[in-house]
Amino acid sequence: MTPFNRFVMVDWSGGNDTGPRPRKDAIWACEAGLPPQYLRNRACAETHLAARIDAALAAGERLMIGFDFPFGYPQGFARDLTGQADPLALWDWLDARIEDSPQANNRFDLAGRINTDLGGGQGPFWGNALSRDIAGLPRGKVGYKNRFADRRACETRAKGSFTCWQLSGAGAVGSQMLMGLPVLARLRRRFAGQIAVWPFEPLDRPVAFVEIWPSLIAPVIADEIAQRLDDPIKDAVQVELVARALAALSGPILGQMLDVDAPVEGWILGLGHERALADAARLVPPPLSNDCFALPAGVDWTPVDVALAHLRDALHPVTAPEDVPLDQALGRVLAQPVVAQRSNPPQPNTAVDGYGFAGGVGEGPHDRPLVDGRAAAGVPFDGVVPSGAAIRVLTGAALPEGVDTVILQEDVTRTQGRIAFHGPLKQGANTRRAGEDVTAGDVILPAGRVITPADLALAAATGLGHLPTRAPLRVGVISTGDELIEPGQTAGPGQIFDANRPMLLGLIARFGHVPVDLGRLPDDRAVIRARLDAAARQVDAIVTSGGASAGDEDHVSALLAESGALQHWRIAIKPGRPLALALWNGTPVFGLPGNPVAAMVCTLIFARPALSVLAGSDWDVPQGMDLPAAFSKRKKPGRREYLRARLRDGRVELFASEGSGRISGLSWAEGLVELPDGAAEIAPGDPVRFLPYSAFGL
Ligand code: AMP
Ligand code: MG
Repeated sequence: MTPFNRFVMVDWSGGNDTGPRPRKDAIWACEAGLPPQYLRNRACAETHLAARIDAALAAGERLMIGFDFPFGYPQGFARDLTGQADPLALWDWLDARIEDSPQANNRFDLAGRINTDLGGGQGPFWGNALSRDIAGLPRGKVGYKNRFADRRACETRAKGSFTCWQLSGAGAVGSQMLMGLPVLARLRRRFAGQIAVWPFEPLDRPVAFVEIWPSLIAPVIADEIAQRLDDPIKDAVQVELVARALAALSGPILGQMLDVDAPVEGWILGLGHERALADAARLVPPPLSNDCFALPAGVDWTPVDVALAHLRDALHPVTAPEDVPLDQALGRVLAQPVVAQRSNPPQPNTAVDGYGFAGGVGEGPHDRPLVDGRAAAGVPFDGVVPSGAAIRVLTGAALPEGVDTVILQEDVTRTQGRIAFHGPLKQGANTRRAGEDVTAGDVILPAGRVITPADLALAAATGLGHLPTRAPLRVGVISTGDELIEPGQTAGPGQIFDANRPMLLGLIARFGHVPVDLGRLPDDRAVIRARLDAAARQVDAIVTSGGASAGDEDHVSALLAESGALQHWRIAIKPGRPLALALWNGTPVFGLPGNPVAAMVCTLIFARPALSVLAGSDWDVPQGMDLPAAFSKRKKPGRREYLRARLRDGRVELFASEGSGRISGLSWAEGLVELPDGAAEIAPGDPVRFLPYSAFGL
């Protein structure tokens, strides 16, 4: 199945309705990327979650929902109570017996009955928040006896966690469980076959319920609350940070977290992975995994699409989050979704210069007295316009009280303090409703978005002065080859000018990253090694050209092989020899062929989307167009081909020579023609796929 792509975290409550105003100790839910939501009681929460699951199923999403209470009790309890060891049978057992309404519930009574049946009225449950005594339920540890373990295996490792047997007192989770598991049981039945409960069931369904414990990242939560100026509610911050962290870890790390063995007691997701969880909540990017460049074994020539899909799945952002003022945000990548702070328009206003009044008017002539004064943009009228009267209004002015409709000044005759005009005119005509464009709280820009000038207008209009971006990706460029000299120098016999470095630095700049010139190196392993060592500390990714094949003089390749993480990518592409992809001290290296044509094509096809993922933006597929060929061409099956091409009179022309050393063709071209992996026979007029350089951001 596809990985989880939606994450909703819920901070539960065992108590009663908490009222309409957001407050602590209620239920809070947060979907990664969206603001936290206040849910005043369990009935609201159940409705909310059911709607969210419905939407996920309809959209074909994979949704993970986390709850901050245990999904199971210590070993033996479910079996003794229900006759079955299956914790999910216990969920149904509780659902059949718990009575719940926003005003009252029977959790203490039920716990007393369980104690009486299983433990002679002395345990396992204890704690009573009610003033009346409950038979069989000790208020504290006096006379308390429990034949089950006090804690689950996972809780013995979770410092500061509470026992599920404790039903009252600050932080006690026992009541949340008794009141939460029945809701989960109902959702599970309602969406039968669509929800898997972790870790009891395999995660092969669209929705997963998991157990979370926000205190695993307590220091991050404390820091966030201390830094925020809006005095946030802790429950809201907790779910927001856990959702954000799990979304950021979706992929191999989340996979490791989910891989636990806890068949009946359940487990806390992320236990033992606190560091990764905390870093992700702080938005510190995790390291790339060592096998991120490993292509499927046994394939001789990997098809282009397979190689691309691999890069897309194995890479993730490596740049750190960095808030910047709007005037520095152009071209940056958003680390988090941006939420409108204010509606646009913030208040109802007039879209034209004219006269405002209340209500629409029917067919025929009308006239109205004018009140003194006017409303203009930024200079509101602060009185009330009486019913039947009108007021002068200018474009952009907030509608005064008593005005909801505006007539154009061109349609009005104005005489001695009155206006006359012809109807009909609809109520609301020529006005803009508050929030008709954007409502405060809407997500206006998604994470991964590269900020455009229009985005700056949208962010500014909706009240944002800063944006949560990522630091730009620094990409180092190295050329290798004993034959290379610096452009402009005097070339001796056998020497050529380094053409790749200026080209690659230019491509990287156009992709929106920060190009870092790391120079030109001889074919000498010690020198290349030293430069890679230094580069890995200085930049986020390295692009080399030359020496990437597997021959004697292919020193980049030999060196990367030493580092242990080299992958030779034999890709079925023309032009292009093997690519050498590796992590050098954790920094990804793209070893391109030395041939300038192959170096540029491989950069556009492979390095460009990979770098954009590393930079935090989305995987980007260049948008091509099918246009008639101005050429004929026969192609054998086996390799996808990219030819230098340009568009003239609506037809695609090819560069006269396919020679891979012909740099002039790269410069002549205005794009590439992409010929499919299979055989092709193209006659003039046949459609071919043209990828203009602009589709690659050039
Ligand atoms: P290599 O991949 O090192 O075997 O190089 C393949 C071809 O590309 C050889 O003809 C090299 O001379 C040429 N080449 C390598 N690097 C560059 C460069 N930076 N600029 C121009 N040509 C290069
Ligand atoms: Mg070479």
